[in-house]
Formats: sequence, C-alpha cells, structure tokens
Amino acid sequence: MNWHARAAELTIDGRALINGERVWAIAGLQFDNLSPVDGRLLGQVARCDSLDVDVAVLAARAAFDDRRWAGKSPAQRKRVLIKFADLVQQNGPELALLETLDMGKPIKYSQSVDVGATANCLRWYGEAIDKIYDEIAPTPSDSLALIQREPVGVVAAIVPWNYPMIMAAWKIAPALAAGNSVILKPSEKSPLTALRLADLGLEAGLPPGVLNVLPGYGIEAGAALALHMDIDCIGFTGSTRTGKLIVQMAGQSNLKRAWTELGGKSANIVCADCPDLDKAVAAAIGSIFFNQGESCNAPSRLFVEESIKAEFLAKAKAMLPQFQPGDPLDEATVMGAIVDATQMQTVMGYIAKGRSEGAQLLGGGEAARLDTGGYYVQPTLFDGVDASMTIAREEIFGPVLSVLGFTDIEEAIRQANATPYGLQAAVWTSDIGKAIRTSRALRAGTVHVNQYDGDDITVPFGGYKQSGNGRDKSLHALDKYTELKTTWIQV
Ligand code: NAD
Repeated sequence: MNWHARAAELTIDGRALINGERVWAIAGLQFDNLSPVDGRLLGQVARCDSLDVDVAVLAARAAFDDRRWAGKSPAQRKRVLIKFADLVQQNGPELALLETLDMGKPIKYSQSVDVGATANCLRWYGEAIDKIYDEIAPTPSDSLALIQREPVGVVAAIVPWNYPMIMAAWKIAPALAAGNSVILKPSEKSPLTALRLADLGLEAGLPPGVLNVLPGYGIEAGAALALHMDIDCIGFTGSTRTGKLIVQMAGQSNLKRAWTELGGKSANIVCADCPDLDKAVAAAIGSIFFNQGESCNAPSRLFVEESIKAEFLAKAKAMLPQFQPGDPLDEATVMGAIVDATQMQTVMGYIAKGRSEGAQLLGGGEAARLDTGGYYVQPTLFDGVDASMTIAREEIFGPVLSVLGFTDIEEAIRQANATPYGLQAAVWTSDIGKAIRTSRALRAGTVHVNQYDGDDITVPFGGYKQSGNGRDKSLHALDKYTELKTTWIQV
C-alpha cells in the first residue's frame, strides 16, 4: 500500500467527543498536532480544560445514573463490545495510519500489533463479561450473603503516547464491560486514534455519554479529571512522576480510586548457561529497540555474565544495522520516529550523560537524519555501564541499551532490584532451579524466563514498587473498575 498517498487523503478530526457529539473545547482553545514522521502539522485538536471536564462528567454521570449502559445485561454489553472490536479491525488501515502519523511508530507494527491488540482487548472483555458469576458466601444457614460486582460509576482514563490505542483499550474495555461510564484523556502528543476509536464505539452501539474523549494537556484536562469531585475512579498510565501527582489529587479531592501503571527500568539477566545465545541476543536487542525504545517494559538494563559478554556483545553489535530508523510509512521499517522534539532531546541528553559518565559507546549514539525530516535516533548500545550511572538508573524511554557485567547471579539480582521501579525482568539460564529462584527474588510484576516477549490479554500487566499498583489486562483488571456489594438476606 502507498501509505504516503493515503496519508495525503486522510481527514483529521481533532474535536473532543462528549455525550455522543464531536465538539470543540468550550473555551475555543486548540493545539497544533504535529507528526514526528516529518514534523508537519496534521491538524488542530481541541484543548479541553476544566469546563469541558465538567460537561463530560455531567454527561457520563447522567448516562450512569439512568443505567442506559450499566442497566444492560452482560450479554447486551458483550454484543456492543464485540461489534466495537469488529469495527476496529474493519477500520484497521485508517487507525494504523493515524497511529503512525501521530506517534511515529512503523506502520508495519501499527497494523500488526496496535490495531490487532486493540481489537483483541475489546473482544476479550466483551466475551468475558457474560461468563463471570457472582458469589454466595458460606454464611450460617439462616442467612444468605450475596457478593456481587457492581460498576464503580464514572471512570476517568488518562493514558500516555507510546501505545495510544492499546493503552486506551486496556482501560476502556474492562471499564465498559463492567458497566461504567468512561472519560478518556489521551496524551496531547498522540490524541488522534483515541478519538477515532470512540467514534467506532458509538457506531457499535455505545449510548451517548458512556464513552467520552477529552484531548488536552495534562495540567489542564488531566488535572481537572484527577481533582473532580464526581469521578469515582481514575485509571492512569504514564510516568511515575505524574502518577504520584494523580494519587495526590485523587486523595485531596474525593478519594476516588486511583490506579497507576507507571515507568520502568527493567533488568534482563543473561547467565553463561543461557540455553540459546542467539535467541537471547535477538530478544535483548529486539525488545529494547521495538517501538523506538518507548515501551514501559523495555529491558533497558542488560546484565550479562562476564564469561560470555564479549561474544554476546559482538553478536548484539552486529544486529544494530537492522534497527536503523527509517520512514515509518515504509512497510520495511522496523524502527520509526521518536514521538517529538522534546523527547528526542531527552534521549540525546541521556546519551550525552552516558558518554560523560564514562560508559563505552559500542554503537549508535547520534540522531539519525532522514529525508523525511522528523525526529530519529540511532539504536544505541553502551557497554561498561556502572550501576551508579544515570543511564543505568533513570528511565530513558528511547533506543538506548545499557550493558552491565556480572560474575555472581546473587549480585546481578541485587543490582536488578536496586531501582525504584519493578515492572518487568528476565533471566536466561538452562538451570530450572536457578530460573525459579531468580524469578522469585526479582521484585517485578512480570518475570520472563528464556524469552522477553511473553504477552497475552489473559495475563495481568503491572508493576511492583514505583511502577504502579493494580493490573491492566486479564480478569484482574475488572477489580479496578468494580465495587463489591454484599447483600445479606434473612432466610
Ligand atoms: P506522562 O506522565 O507525561 O503523561 C501521561 C498522561 O498523563 C498524559 O495523558 C498526560 O497528558 C497526563 N498528565 C501529565 N501531567 C498531568 C497532570 N499534572 N495531571 C493529570 N494528568 C497529567 O507520561 P508520558 O510521557 O505520556 O508516557 C511515558 C510514561 O508512561 C513512561 O514513564 C512509561 O514507562 C509509562 N508507561 C507505563 C505503562 C505501564 O503499563 N506501566 C505503559 C505505557 C507507558
């Protein structure tokens, strides 16, 4: 497909969606939506603020109170969510193109990963919701205690820019399946697919007011949502810094439930008895450079046992040319653009820090200049990284891999855990006992053994420590968007 030609014909609608209508912000403010692919203006987007939040909350609350969605049977909600998923698939090329233009990821992955995972998530929660039974407690025989799940009410979902559609789907699918009304705030850096998704939700049969989308800045629309007195729950994905503010705002307003999915600095530990060195190299390199390194779970700290480190790094270095950034609209490209100029400066700043603090640059380290313009960084590999260096401690959120050597697995585990984050980790070994002991010792929400690509909607996704609380995906996500109601009945 000629994606450039399709992009030239694309219509961009940056209006918010409130109560089933596409509308501009009440104050009339807009912001420029630039594409990281080539830096060009894609269009204007509504800059929503507290006025729009108030109107959206009224609409969402009315929809919840009159039970136009919560009152539907699980089987009825299921039908709408499955139609929603079908429409996402049918509109896949348009959604993929918007995602790539807005965020910079390769079109190859917007199509195969982002559209597919978004549809799958909507379908999975749709399919699940009419198969969940409530409970009866084992109480004394003169009483009956029913324990039922009820929707929490009005849910605000605030999401980041790195997987705009998937992050939106991970919030809205379980929240809608459970019968809530939702107000979604996409990142100001990539608002377009959230808006198109919501159009498709309406087309699938979501009643007006049940799914609202407010594009805008974090400190305006985002903070107004977190502080609002009539929102019952907030599902947040983003940086740890913002997550702390969200929890504070939730606490200082109405103590709304605040669920956070935050940053990471995941450790990937490769032992000398790794069963397949080539596979370990491919996974280490492929996982850090996937999505330009802009993944919360990217294995950005690589611990390699000293006895195999030279061989490992020679193989790793040889893979770097495969990940040279290219035009995201070219289907052969595997690494695309960094989301914007600010993020690119942040990444280049970390690379400069790595150099100045004494890490050894094995490859990359420069911005990549493409004919398209836009924001691109070479895949960058640092050896000789010390645990005290900035690039070993802070989340870079870019295509930069820090390699640390180790001789003793206990020391590697200690260093892997010596971070405020706890999102994911991995260990590569042929010794099953060592794999299990290491997995138990790693303080992370997900641990991979001899792989780094375990991913499925059926498993919970989330972090220990400052990587957040609660879990997205799986049936566990429903816990965030439901209350447990106990009803005692005298018999
Ligand atoms: P961010 O924290 O800057 O922004 C996330 C969202 O919060 C955006 O919609 C933003 O507008 C909003 N926001 C910003 N300031 C706000 C405020 N004061 N009040 C309310 N809302 C506010 O994060 P980002 O740069 O968009 O995303 C990158 C971060 O997200 C990384 O740290 C990454 O690790 C994390 N992330 C985590 C997961 C996960 O599941 N754990 C998944 C994806 C991304």
